[in-house]
Amino acid sequence: MKAGLSSELLLKAAQLHNTPLYVYDQQCIQSQYQQLQTAFAAFQPSLFYACKALSNVNILRIMHQLGAGIDCVSLNEVRLSMTAGVPADKIIFTPNSVGMDEYVEAVALGVNINIDNLSILRDFGKQFGKTYPVLVRINPHILAGGNIKISTGHEDSKFGISVTQVDAIKAVVAETGLVVKGLHIHTGSEIKDIDVYIKGLELVLATAQQFDGLEIIDLGGGFKVPYVPGEKGTDLLALGERMASVFNQHKQATGANYTIWFEPGKFLVSDCGYLLVKANVIKEAPSRTFVGVDSGFNHLIRPMFYEAYHHIENISNPQGINKTYNVVGNICETDTFAWDRSLPEVRPGDVLVFRNAGAYGFEMSSRFNSRVRPAEVLIDNKEIKLIRRRETFEDLLQGQII
Ligand SMILES: *Cc1c(COP(=O)(O)O)cnc(C)c1O
Repeated sequence: MKAGLSSELLLKAAQLHNTPLYVYDQQCIQSQYQQLQTAFAAFQPSLFYACKALSNVNILRIMHQLGAGIDCVSLNEVRLSMTAGVPADKIIFTPNSVGMDEYVEAVALGVNINIDNLSILRDFGKQFGKTYPVLVRINPHILAGGNIKISTGHEDSKFGISVTQVDAIKAVVAETGLVVKGLHIHTGSEIKDIDVYIKGLELVLATAQQFDGLEIIDLGGGFKVPYVPGEKGTDLLALGERMASVFNQHKQATGANYTIWFEPGKFLVSDCGYLLVKANVIKEAPSRTFVGVDSGFNHLIRPMFYEAYHHIENISNPQGINKTYNVVGNICETDTFAWDRSLPEVRPGDVLVFRNAGAYGFEMSSRFNSRVRPAEVLIDNKEIKLIRRRETFEDLLQGQII
């Protein structure tokens, strides 16, 4: 976890825009992007930001300005990216479980398309033949990543076409004339073990040899960032070195020279986001002390959904004596953010900060309990810019036929 934005600046943002509030650090995003570029400099991949992590148009614009493309899992993400000025050829559409209608629309928009099942591949081939080359998502049968809910490349995962079914992909190609321009794998999220990437890479390179005219190897995302103090993320420099040597060996052995794509989501934004909340209630129950805050799993679901750890700081009372708390939300459901967490004494009104809230934070928020979603601000060199206003009661009514 990085040192991050100063408490002074975060408190100022909370004063200006109230809590709960999502805060993002533009310079941090730039630095994360550069880290990837440096680590992979030997083979100069194209980076496509997986925008389901955080899709505010202002964030997409930053990514575009940095030179990144965008990986989208829905047509609306494609439209948001285009709103941010990203051209179609720098967008990948990687949906799953969607009908032909969405692929047809993606063709009309002119974006790169990544197909993850055989029946759509066949229908797509029949409709578009060789006129619209696509990428194919392979399921490598590798179990990797953090919580099982974020593992996507194992045998029982719904994602991708099994690596054992490559012959069926080739049959579609032979039958319809479809052109496979690239192969894609995305094995999961929070992958620390470099061997997992190398295994996936070797497998996808071996599979790539079975296709003529293949240009792109898309290795997905999943780079881990530390959440717990002292924890380590993916060792990117070591990963970059090992990948470069695998590519070189492959090139020497086969003459193939692929363009490499990555789709980092969490790595680019997780560390760069903060959720600021206010302590409303300190409840001394017989067995433990609760801090009740003005937010809940409607705003940050990761602790309840993935048992994720989010570091919490009390920036209003950093010198206070440490006490042990359960930090809970204000939703009528159990929504514990942290169990038995040691924090400088929390007083009503104190501002607490959840770290690593940039990825899958606001983006997974909801209006459960008819509470509105927080505002979002972007900090650019100490300048605090509102990039999404707080929702209101009127927003709740919008769309309802009354
Ligand atoms: C979610 C996703 C990613 C990004 O994963 P991170 O763990 O956030 O890096 C990349 N590619 C695809 C296809 C995804 O679905």
